[in-house]
Amino acid sequence: MKNNLKIYNTFTRKKEQFIPINHPFVGIYLCGPTVYGSPHLGHARSAIVFDIIFRYLKYLNYKVRYIKNITDVGHLERDLDNGRDKVLLQANIEKLEPMEITQYYTNIYDRNMSLLNIIPPSIEPRASGNILEQIELIKKIIFSGFGYISNGSVYFNLEKYKKKKIYGNLSGIIIDNLLKKNKSLSKKIEKKFIFDFALWKKAGKSHIMNWNSPWGRGFPGWHLECSAMSNKYLGKKFDIHGGGIDLLFPHHECEIAQSQVLNNINPAKYWMHNNLITINKKKMGKSLGNIITLDNIFYGNHFLFNKPYGLMVIKFFILQSHYRNPLDFSLLALNASQKGYLKLINGLKVIKKLKYKKSDNINIDNNIVNKINFFCQECYKSIDNDFNTAKLISNLFKLLKYINDINCKILDFSKIKKKTFLNLKNTYKIFIEDNLGLREESAFLKKKNLIKILIKIYKKAKKKKDYNTVDFIRLQLKLNGIILQDYFNINWSYKT
Ligand code: ZN
Repeated sequence: MKNNLKIYNTFTRKKEQFIPINHPFVGIYLCGPTVYGSPHLGHARSAIVFDIIFRYLKYLNYKVRYIKNITDVGHLERDLDNGRDKVLLQANIEKLEPMEITQYYTNIYDRNMSLLNIIPPSIEPRASGNILEQIELIKKIIFSGFGYISNGSVYFNLEKYKKKKIYGNLSGIIIDNLLKKNKSLSKKIEKKFIFDFALWKKAGKSHIMNWNSPWGRGFPGWHLECSAMSNKYLGKKFDIHGGGIDLLFPHHECEIAQSQVLNNINPAKYWMHNNLITINKKKMGKSLGNIITLDNIFYGNHFLFNKPYGLMVIKFFILQSHYRNPLDFSLLALNASQKGYLKLINGLKVIKKLKYKKSDNINIDNNIVNKINFFCQECYKSIDNDFNTAKLISNLFKLLKYINDINCKILDFSKIKKKTFLNLKNTYKIFIEDNLGLREESAFLKKKNLIKILIKIYKKAKKKKDYNTVDFIRLQLKLNGIILQDYFNINWSYKT
């Protein structure tokens, strides 16, 4: 299958032509969410970026198997994190069973993903559902001489590994330099080397989530779950491995080390990483107290804003920037995104209704025809250029101008060919609906029937010359973000 898609590969640091591995399907693995809290903007960015990749590869007619795991065994987030169990901490606060907590947050995650119009992945495996597979991999790593048991835990022997293979190729981080810079990184109890990472962790008395293993009761290491699940569902080598840029080191480096020991292979052909979201130029984090969850957006309860926004606005905000660039959230940017999103969606409403009308006096304006065709072509080029949704959206706005001109009769059908009109209509629809997955907010959709009823009353009132009612309806709709257009026909659009 031919394609023009180019992908930036974090591993080679180059933009490469996308040539899938010769498998029956294109395999994508995304490091999914940890379900011990409501999903925030960072979760949204990762999910949106890889949803676009999933959608576009399917649009190119590939059979795609997209795996997004759910981290629910509640182990340490980083190896230097003293093994605090986050699910357990939350369970203690809320007096709940740990699996009740992870299910509760998984449900919130799924609800938010559906509001973002994210297509569910092909498989969404849970770490807790793949414990046996993880134990099998640990046994193999110990057998190859790269794992050692220490006080009921099992560690990956990184010091031995880096004598045989290169560690740090993906992130460019040289751990020896880290050690030189930070002398306080001294040897840890249990471990032979500070950067050795846990494959299996012995469960402390208070650690509720634990399983039986040849090394006693405990729980698997975080890096291992991704190796186990990608290997199980996508094979030893697959096409695309994704995640946020914060997962480059140590998570993805450790995944590569595990695969090298297990299968003598770098598990992914293309490594793709999305950049992070900052809040008013500051890193988003618990310690700064500035985390914005998707529920905060939806319900409008955050100190930075006091009104709700639809999640499509957040999706548009994220898509307006290229996934490899940092993205800064601010109230100003959010409001600008709402305007932009509504303009684009108004265009979609219009073009869906517009039908080409053959004109008696054909007077083709080649300049306009060429421009429309050019911007349509540019839409494809933008997405093919490493999923540049920022550029894609700016081209869609160029097309929007022609859609609005046709709608307002500034541009007459006599000036463009039917073929050009259909190219404009299809390109606009395909990119907004199919490839970007933008749609009218579900909250608005529910209101649609009510708007129709109000318009009926409006028409009747106008016929009876009851202008009080006419003005009242017009004003009430406006206050609710709807503009009534009463020109040739009565129509409505979102207030931008
Ligand atoms: Zn992972």
